[in-house]
Amino acid sequence: MLIGIIGAGISGLTAGRILAKAGHEVVVFEKSRGYGGRICTRYSNKYEGVRFDHGAPYISGDDPLFLEFIQELTEKGVARKWTDTFHFHDGEKMYDKHPNMPPKSRYVCEDGMNAIGKYLSRWVDVRLNSRVIGFTYQGDRRTTKRAWMLNLENFDTFEVDAIVVAAPAVQAYGLIENSIDETMFKTIIKDIDSVLYSPKHALMLAYEDAPAPDFAGLVVSNNPVISWICNENSKRNTDGKVALTVHTQSDFSKKHVFDGTAPEIIELEIAQQLRKVLGDWAGRYDESQMRLWRYPQPGNYFDKDFVELGGDIKPIALTGDYMRGKTLEHAFVSGYKLGHHWANRFSK
Ligand SMILES: Cc1cc2nc3c(=O)[nH]c(=O)nc-3n(C[C@H](O)[C@H](O)[C@H](O)COP(=O)(O)OP(=O)(O)OC[C@H]3O[C@@H](n4cnc5c(N)ncnc54)[C@H](O)[C@@H]3O)c2cc1C
Repeated sequence: MLIGIIGAGISGLTAGRILAKAGHEVVVFEKSRGYGGRICTRYSNKYEGVRFDHGAPYISGDDPLFLEFIQELTEKGVARKWTDTFHFHDGEKMYDKHPNMPPKSRYVCEDGMNAIGKYLSRWVDVRLNSRVIGFTYQGDRRTTKRAWMLNLENFDTFEVDAIVVAAPAVQAYGLIENSIDETMFKTIIKDIDSVLYSPKHALMLAYEDAPAPDFAGLVVSNNPVISWICNENSKRNTDGKVALTVHTQSDFSKKHVFDGTAPEIIELEIAQQLRKVLGDWAGRYDESQMRLWRYPQPGNYFDKDFVELGGDIKPIALTGDYMRGKTLEHAFVSGYKLGHHWANRFSK
């Protein structure tokens, strides 16, 4: 079967890898220019070797399926153990252990977290810069046409036998709304419409000459702006430069998304709070980049591993982190279970 997957995040690539290994032809369409979706890395414009993991900063898990995948990544040299504990800032003082987070193994990629997406993409044909804007059922004439036609933003079309939508729920909603018939859509609309996201900014900062922080990750509480600071130096050799990725509180980002505050002002507000948390040096950076995440993590989720629509005639499935959870681990498990389910269902 020829399967078209929309989204090269961990859920889509995991499902794709399993289906490709089962003998199916898999083409993944990805709107952005990189692999991995929200597990992604930006490079410094100024300093060689400096990278920022501005989406998910690390991986860790509890599910045996995901732990097995982490083991595979470490064995292949894609990921390595990073830390068991995070520092904690309570709004006034820094502590070297978070009081409510028991130690747990966390893993990172020295090349940048997007190495995970690159690794998974080896098994499938990924078309980057390829935004799917909808798809059309082509009727029952299976001898002349495949079931679905994918329509791309650049006006290209691509015929497939089955579709996996592996995008965040809001984007999946936008895609299927005008692509599947009303009866099919009705079975899912209420659930998918209820998955909500709160935005978050990621501010990436590099320092030519600054004291390297002694933490790997710092959870910040009781601060109106900052929720998390990641010390990128603790992940890889940055040739003496200091690099931090700062994530904001959702309420702070939500307010600024609604009131349309200019990015420079948002950056200043984050930098001002950063000084309070880490000291004055943290406000004197030599490079900054900022990214707004509109859909970082779902606030609620489906009580299912994945969703299937369209029966055997026009198969379509939804997968992603909003299946049974809100995290990267859930995205992997959803893609894994869908991949194996379809590999059995459509075995030759
Ligand atoms: C700032 C931030 C911090 C996070 N922190 C953590 C954390 O600490 N722990 C944790 O477990 N998780 C964290 N996450 C969440 C984690 O990254 C996600 O849960 C996981 O990566 C989701 O994977 P996915 O495959 O479901 O979706 P995604 O990774 O979003 O992949 C979907 C892909 O689909 C593509 N796409 C969408 N629409 C289309 C279209 N029309 N055509 C083509 N392509 C399309 C997107 O570009 C994207 O690449 C964080 C995320 C962010 C952004």
